[in-house]
This record gives sequence, structure tokens and C-alpha cells, in this order.
Amino acid sequence: MIDKTYINNILQQAKNPTDQQITDILHKSKRRERLNHLDIAMLLNAHDPSQIHEIHEIAGQIKEEIYGKRVVMFAPLYISNYCVNNCKYCGYRRDNSFPRKKLTQEDIKKQAILLEKLGHKRLALEAGEDPKETPISYIIEALKTIYDNSDIRRVNVNIAATTTPNYKKLKEVGIGTYILFQETYDKQAFKDQHPKSLKGDYQYHLHAFDRAFEAGIDDVGAGVLFGLADYKFEVLSLIIHNEYLEKNYGVGFHTISVPRLKKAPGMSLEDYPNIITDEQFKRLVTVIRLAVPYVGLILSTRETKEIREELLKYGVTQISAGSKTDVGGYKENEQPVHDHDQFELADERCVLDINKALILDGYIPSYCTACYRKGRTGDRFMALAKSGTIGLVCEPNALMTLTEYVMDYGDYELKEKGLDYIDEHAQTIKHQKVKQKLLNNIERIKQGERDLFF
Ligand code: SAM
Ligand code: SF4
Repeated sequence: MIDKTYINNILQQAKNPTDQQITDILHKSKRRERLNHLDIAMLLNAHDPSQIHEIHEIAGQIKEEIYGKRVVMFAPLYISNYCVNNCKYCGYRRDNSFPRKKLTQEDIKKQAILLEKLGHKRLALEAGEDPKETPISYIIEALKTIYDNSDIRRVNVNIAATTTPNYKKLKEVGIGTYILFQETYDKQAFKDQHPKSLKGDYQYHLHAFDRAFEAGIDDVGAGVLFGLADYKFEVLSLIIHNEYLEKNYGVGFHTISVPRLKKAPGMSLEDYPNIITDEQFKRLVTVIRLAVPYVGLILSTRETKEIREELLKYGVTQISAGSKTDVGGYKENEQPVHDHDQFELADERCVLDINKALILDGYIPSYCTACYRKGRTGDRFMALAKSGTIGLVCEPNALMTLTEYVMDYGDYELKEKGLDYIDEHAQTIKHQKVKQKLLNNIERIKQGERDLFF
């Protein structure tokens, strides 16, 4: 599926695009036509500042048109740092010597409750790979523990590539999105970064989503760890991987994550010549937005507040908040105490402050998990997104979950401003019946009802 010669040829052809070529591609994008591989490669190579500005602007318009002001909120939950792999970039790798930890089911319950107390409804469950210490049965138990003991409504799972029978078990227990980062699509870089380990099998890793689809999972999230290889090669590969899944399984990625390599214990960023600048990062995020308008884009707390705020304008649809990347990292008071982190974080604001800032910028932090629970996943979700009616379902749901958040976790300031803010947004819904039902539901939530959704 990933043909290096083909991709390099495209990148070679796209090396010096003329202003006219970029203008034509941007017109295509404005007409909401699908971009081809050469178009995408050319946009990655555009050099005129006013055209780069226009790429950002169009990405912002696409985002606004499809997702409106919603920003989906989540937090990672690290349950184990045992790992048999030796990924050179990761603080949890086998060669790093530190006391390993895995949470008991009781600990997992406590962590889930702490996350719930921060207002979260959606988690990304994270673990290293260790078939003995953390077999699939442990992951399955963890999911059950979270669903049975907390108000968490959707658990996405980010664990190592596994077998079809294991994916079936994950599907049965009710995972949200199955997330797996390819790390790098460059075969040689992949080999170099994953020496002598289970994860080192490039083809097995690359075809993990095929096995997930065969097992009945229809909701997958991809990602690249930017900094391991040429970012232009990675972006084209992501797009080709997405097309491959669409062609073979009728649905592509639900989300794409764009983690950038960060400093971690036992590695030096100086060993990575492909580290990308902020400008390159913004470009790749905006070009992905233009290339796959309906795929959610996830930005984690690896990025600073400033970059996150800027990229929310130009394409990002989902962010983590208040994250801890050490096992059992959530504590009663939200102080940044670090045990053994997987990598460094850059946005350590607490969830409440992030939500207040989002509201100040005109966004609607959304804790909605309705699609997943109504079975609107895979091609059914895409049909909703592409029909243009997403706003009539998702925006009301976002406003209802924000009302819950404000009522249950808001401080005096947020309660005072937030409820008026929600009302203002609700009043802008054009469809009268939807608006009435929404206003009615908001009142019911204020009176104590919970978990209402369209
Ligand atoms: N162990 C599983 C795996 O490798 O797929 C689960 C996820 S791991 C806990 C989550 C992700 O963290 C990895 O896929 C990798 O991309 C990312 N990561 C590891 N080291 C990192 C670093 N130094 N900076 C940024 N992200 C890193
Ligand atoms: Fe283990 Fe995942 Fe870290 Fe690799 S990235 S060492 S597999 S936790």
C-alpha cells in the first residue's frame, strides 16, 4: 500500500510549484473538490507567504463549515508502562531502567473516577506492550472496570498492534476508536526506531487496521510521530493509507493524531534530524485538513497552549486536557507531580482553565459521545458528516454536554458566564424544532437530568 518510489516521485514532481499551480489547487479546495496526491504534495511545498496564509484560511473555513465551533475533549489514561518493545524515542522502552508499574483494577477504578471529577466523559486508554504483564484480558478487564464504575461514556483504546481475535474481544467489550500510530511510514526509519522487538514488524503494524476491520471494528484512528522521517512523505502516506481503507472497507480513519516527537527519558532530540519546526507543523495540519475534511484531527498536550489555540482555528477538532502520561498520574489535587512520564508535556493547564479559555475564544467544548452510543460509527458516522446535517445533531449535543459540565464541574465564574454563553449559541440554531428541543433539554439538565442526547 505504501510505495516509497511512487511517493518520492510525487514529492519530486511537486518540489517547486508555481504560484499559478497553488492558486488552482486552492480553487479546487474552495469548491470542496477532492485533492489528488500531487496537489497535496504541492501544497506542502508552497512557499509564497500569502498563499501559505490562504491555505490556513481555507483550512479554517472547512473546519468551521463541517465542525462549527465544537471542540471534542478527552484525556489519556495510562494503565501500564511495562513494555517489551524498545522504541528508541519512548520513555517506556525496554532498555530504560525504572520501576515498572501497572494499575490494579481498583487503581483503574480510582483513576477513572478522578478523571470523571475533572468532567471527562471520553478517555484514551494507553498501555505499553507486554503479553505477559498486560495481556488482552487485562485490557478488557480495564475497559469493563471503567464502564461499570464511572460516568466515562466512551473509552478509545491505544494499544499495540494485535491479532484479529484480540480485536474481536475489544469490539465485544465496547471500545470507542481503536487508535494506533504508525509512528513512521518510512520502512527504513521504522526498522531503525524499533530494533529487535515485537513492534519492529513494519507490515504487521501497517496492516493492524485491516485486522481490526476484519474483527468488526469500524472506527479507527491513525497517527504519525512527526520527527522520525520526512514529514511530507508521512503526510502523503497517511492519505494513501486512508484511501486504502476506504477502498477496501468502505470507511477510512475516523481520526488522525499528529503527535510531534518530544524529549523523553533515555533519548536525545539531537539524534532526530527530521524534527519539524512550528511552521512546518502548522502547514502539515492545515494540508491534512484540506485533504481529508471529514477526518477528526487530534492534538495532544505535547503542544503548547499557543500552538493548540492557533491550530484549533485551522483544523484541529479534538484536544486532550489536563493529561498525565505517567501511570496512575491523576491525583486528588491537580498538581503537576511526575513519576516516570512517557515524554514531556507542554500544556499543563487544568481542564477547567482550558475550558474557560476555549469559551473565551468562542468555542464549544464538547463532551458528546452520542454517535458511539447510538451506533453511528464507521460509514454511518461518515454519512452523517457528509450529509451536512452534522450541525443539527452534534452542535446541540455539544451544548447539552457543556451544560452538564458547567453545572457539575464549573466554578462560580464559569457558571455565571457559561450558562448565558450556552443559551446564546442555542438561540443561533436555525432549525426551529431542534432549537426548541435543545432549549427544553438544557432546562432539564439544569434541573438535574443527565445524559440527554440526539
Ligand atoms: N504502546 C502502544 C504503542 O506504542 O502503540 C500504545 C501507545 S503509546 C503509550 C502512545 C504513543 O506515544 C506512541 O504510539 C508514540 O507515538 C507516542 N510517543 C512515544 N514516545 C514519544 C515521544 N518521545 N514524544 C512524543 N510521542 C511519543
Ligand atoms: Fe512501548 Fe509504545 Fe513506548 Fe514503544 S511507544 S516503547 S511500544 S509504550
